[in-house]
Amino acid sequence: MRRLSIKSLIALVDQELIPIKDAVIDISDDEVIGIGKIPGSNNVVDLGNVILMPQLTNAHIHVLDYFLMDLFNKYYIDDVVGAPYGLKYYYLRKAKPESLRNGLAMVFRRIRSYGIGCLLSIIEYGKSFTDIVIEEARRAGLCIVPLAEPSVFRTYVRPNEEEDVNEEFEDEIKYFVDRGFGISLISPLNYTMAELKIASKLGGSRGLPISTHVSETEDTYSDGDLDRALSTLMIGNTVFVHLTQLNDGDIMRLPMLPVVTCPRSNMEFTGKIPKISTMIRRGLRPLIGTDNVALVEPDPWEEIKLVRLLMRGEELHSINILKMLTSWAWSWGFGYIMREGELMRGLALQVGYEGVDINYVHDYVITRISSMDVAYIINGSEILKVTT
Ligand SMILES: [Zn+2]
Repeated sequence: MRRLSIKSLIALVDQELIPIKDAVIDISDDEVIGIGKIPGSNNVVDLGNVILMPQLTNAHIHVLDYFLMDLFNKYYIDDVVGAPYGLKYYYLRKAKPESLRNGLAMVFRRIRSYGIGCLLSIIEYGKSFTDIVIEEARRAGLCIVPLAEPSVFRTYVRPNEEEDVNEEFEDEIKYFVDRGFGISLISPLNYTMAELKIASKLGGSRGLPISTHVSETEDTYSDGDLDRALSTLMIGNTVFVHLTQLNDGDIMRLPMLPVVTCPRSNMEFTGKIPKISTMIRRGLRPLIGTDNVALVEPDPWEEIKLVRLLMRGEELHSINILKMLTSWAWSWGFGYIMREGELMRGLALQVGYEGVDINYVHDYVITRISSMDVAYIINGSEILKVTT
């Protein structure tokens, strides 16, 4: 048994990210066994002038399009990464998984260096690419929740097709859930009602997450994608992504489920971000994702700065923005908090000033911290120095 006590200037603990000054976290093997001010072991590591907080969760990312980043600004972005007819889909249909291994390894190392612990990754053409994505993410030290996407989808569902089920679609969904993968659906508009129900039933019966983009654009919103999702996908652990176009009334009738917003991607694609403060009033505990690597650098620190700026005057407190990256994700089963009995998955942020007032620490993290301040990643009793 390896015991260790980690000292920091301020630690943000428990679900409420409560700041404790001169905190000591006692760790035994992989687990937090005590939080206080006096070390519970002789083996004390003082990390110095750092803020210690849980590793972050990036709740929505497409990693398989990194090789298209050069096309950014050369073509209309929807033609590059848009589903299902963007260039991404065209290339991935032809790509050999091995040809992407080195590139993926670099993407995941970069993601890890930002302090991400848990990653919900969409994997297009899931049957071909899920294994390699999982392997490379784990090699970088990430906990990955793979969301495998079937290769079959429809441009448009005619009213008389709603009961149809494409056999290949059903086979691939079965293949995914048999392997314990979550499921990614492009949008409720790209499958029949019967297909949506099958995905929901198969994923839900194994407790696997099902992710779908909902109301990202005005078109998908006016085509009624939200109602299709609500009437078919509510059995499993459904994750709704974007919801950019929803009004307050739509948000207030959402059931309690994990919703993910991708602020920079939403600004690039649609020029606005969803009503996050209404989501919080509704009690939804929203999460943050960075969406397409081809389009947006997967750096969560940039994401939260933008959220704060765009939501000025909307009663969105810094602590809630931080919870979107940490404890709210944990509350849905996708991330970490620092509490006795939990896995120790910590992140030490270097403070570049003399100190930080304990009442200012959440604002400090939101407004001042950037990826260059991520100093250490703590996994159980292992302390890893972050090098970029
Ligand atoms: Zn997406």
